[in-house]
Amino acid sequence: MFKNLILIIMIVVVYKIIKKMILEPMKSNTPYPLEKNRNESADDLMIKDPECGVYFPQRQGVSLRAGGETLYFCSEKCRDDYKNKTKA
Ligand SMILES: [Zn+2]
Repeated sequence: MFKNLILIIMIVVVYKIIKKMILEPMKSNTPYPLEKNRNESADDLMIKDPECGVYFPQRQGVSLRAGGETLYFCSEKCRDDYKNKTKA
């Protein structure tokens, strides 16, 4: 009976060690590629022009501050059209 208890404890300990060996490299490896992808996509983020519906890189867009948020348009014409629309 006592022998069985030791055997069970040993199995649990070995199981925990194996689990740790398998899970720890996964935990430490996964955040880095995800963060890298996030930074790359933020650099060249494609957004939709709310006026004409065209997708374009955010940094090439024309910005408009409206009600506390910044909107981006593909061209100054779209920005002006949107401004005129929201005013009317
Ligand atoms: Zn546009």
